[in-house]
Amino acid sequence: SVLVVGSINMDLVVTASQFPRPGETLCGSHFATFPGGKGANQAVAAARLGASVTMLGCVGDDSFGQNLLAGLQAENIDTQWISRIPGTPTGVASITVCEAENAITVIPGANHALSVEHIAQADAAFAATDVVLAQLETPLPTILAAAQRARLHGKPFILNPAPAVVLPQELLDLVSLLTPNQHELATALDVSGDDWRAQLASLPGRVVMTLGKEGAAYITPTGQIIEQAGFTVRAIDTTGAGDTFNGALAAFWRQGPAAALRLACAAGALSVTRAGAQSGMPTLAELTRFLEQ
Ligand code: ADP
Repeated sequence: SVLVVGSINMDLVVTASQFPRPGETLCGSHFATFPGGKGANQAVAAARLGASVTMLGCVGDDSFGQNLLAGLQAENIDTQWISRIPGTPTGVASITVCEAENAITVIPGANHALSVEHIAQADAAFAATDVVLAQLETPLPTILAAAQRARLHGKPFILNPAPAVVLPQELLDLVSLLTPNQHELATALDVSGDDWRAQLASLPGRVVMTLGKEGAAYITPTGQIIEQAGFTVRAIDTTGAGDTFNGALAAFWRQGPAAALRLACAAGALSVTRAGAQSGMPTLAELTRFLEQ
């Protein structure tokens, strides 16, 4: 089972042929809403792959919050630890898409209300889970409290350090596994340069790095780098590949690093063959079929 601590957003996507300039009003061509937020996305990825998933997070006391809760429940995710925060809007990402470019404004809203107290109140969820998975779209003190509680219960704490920030040493010390992409690894460790092999070596046994279509790499406790090549697919939309990878990695972590890495790379590859974040995430049956090909 997987406990995901993280963000829950509604993505509001406007498609237009131009970006509006300040003061300008344009007529766009499409509008759609999609469930999102790295936390919720990773929870859905793990649940589709057959993990028993519990989500800890916050939504507002509004219709977006209600819709998002219903969506998570429809994915068989346990939502009993998701709080509805009165007087605070559900997190949203306002996304304008114009040809291959996009402009995004994220309003964290209720995600910023996820507090150290919420973590303490959910102690039973930490006690019951096999692994805890978190990202950085909720306040850092809350993530630290979640890492401490995972440690208290002897549960692995997987941190996807996205969006990229410099991680305090106190948090790094509590992380069982860090899952950055190349840019996030350098930022998290506060180092420059692109020698990711050297950067991995500073956290033996505790980093899985994603490498886009090249796959992913893991450094063993003895400092050996295990590389999993990417699966060759026809990429349509890479949105959500990282979230799919992380959800899968947490779901399969108990099978050991090499097996989990392979399954997570396959799940990430499948997700880029389909449009959307959550809508592109594979089921366990689809993953199994893909690997048997
Ligand atoms: P992020 O989106 O967080 O930067 P990546 O782009 O590294 O993450 O993608 C996460 C994982 O998804 C990769 O490790 C890989 O397994 C898979 N993936 C991403 N893009 C592709 C691609 N074009 N082809 C095959 N697999 C991909």
